[in-house]
Amino acid sequence: MTESVELLAELVKRPSQNPMGLASPGPGFFESAVTDFLEGLLRQWDVHYERQSVAPQRDNIVAYLPGEASAPSFIWEAHQDTVPAVSMTVEPFAAQLKNGRLYGRGACDVKGGLAAMLAAFHRLLREPASRRCSITLACVVDEEYTFTGVRALAAKPLRADGAIVAEPTSLHIITAHKGIVRWRLHTSGRSCHSSRPELGINAIYRMGRVIAAIESYAAWLSTTRQDAVLGPATISVGRIEGGVSANIVPDSCTIDIDRRVLPREKLETVPAELAEYLVHRLGAEGWRQEAPWMQVPPLAHEGKERLVARLAEAVRQVLGQVEVGTVPYGTDASTLQAVGIPCVVFGPGDIAQAHTAEEWVDVHQVEQAAEILYHFALLR
Ligand SMILES: [Zn+2]
Repeated sequence: MTESVELLAELVKRPSQNPMGLASPGPGFFESAVTDFLEGLLRQWDVHYERQSVAPQRDNIVAYLPGEASAPSFIWEAHQDTVPAVSMTVEPFAAQLKNGRLYGRGACDVKGGLAAMLAAFHRLLREPASRRCSITLACVVDEEYTFTGVRALAAKPLRADGAIVAEPTSLHIITAHKGIVRWRLHTSGRSCHSSRPELGINAIYRMGRVIAAIESYAAWLSTTRQDAVLGPATISVGRIEGGVSANIVPDSCTIDIDRRVLPREKLETVPAELAEYLVHRLGAEGWRQEAPWMQVPPLAHEGKERLVARLAEAVRQVLGQVEVGTVPYGTDASTLQAVGIPCVVFGPGDIAQAHTAEEWVDVHQVEQAAEILYHFALLR
């Protein structure tokens, strides 16, 4: 077994489930088992590293590999957390290897990518410093829920000529994605007995009108906000809650809104733009919005030509061909790019297997990713 696959198995055997907001999730949650494993590895390899506390049981771990002084420096970033393993149909932490696939929670998203980065980092460590670029390997927490790990990383002074963020891209180089804003909207009313509904104000009816207006706003967005590479901006209502029982006219109703944002839009003004539209359609009474609980900036595709060229050359060397594209989902890359570091997203595995009941990754792709990353950082 190659080092990248051995490392992958060790990572999958250590649960690092993100509790996704759950109050007391129990054992197997948070990233500390993986963080401790990574720390042990870095000690054994005798590399300089730091452990950055983000929250209880949640530490980023950042390792430094100095290279040739005049060579460019790069960040390799991967998240330690996975989505929860509930309702998986394969053993989530056994790291079972079958027919070239390694199964388990996080195998694809993104322990395969993390293992490839670790293996390439270790291989570069055995090269003389004069033959390699400087690499900062950042293993962060909480990518799957609120992105606090990468935000803590980006808040420190960071200097690099570019960053590769691991996600399952099937070894395609991803240069752009949309941003995400999620927030909550409430309607209010007045409760009364449902036999005399005319005496109350029904907050669910009110929300019905709000939702119909959001649906027409969505249609407007899809025709007026377009990006040549990423397609249209979108908005979606994903959850609704309201009312107590059938015999009470409800006095409150709440929805969760998900808005996908294009690079030229401003994250901060997205909820206010919807509010303006709703006021115009429905008036300002009886509804209000909360501040967003999640904001992930979009990843713009400009300004990273040299990074893409360097990675493309390494990919071509190993695979013989290169694909460059975009993805519909949000990643840590845009938060790093927002502090001035050009970023691409790249890694083994197919996003179609991420978060699934039988998550797996093609181990050959993990090995190829390790090979590509090694060549990316090697000076010729
Ligand atoms: Zn991921």
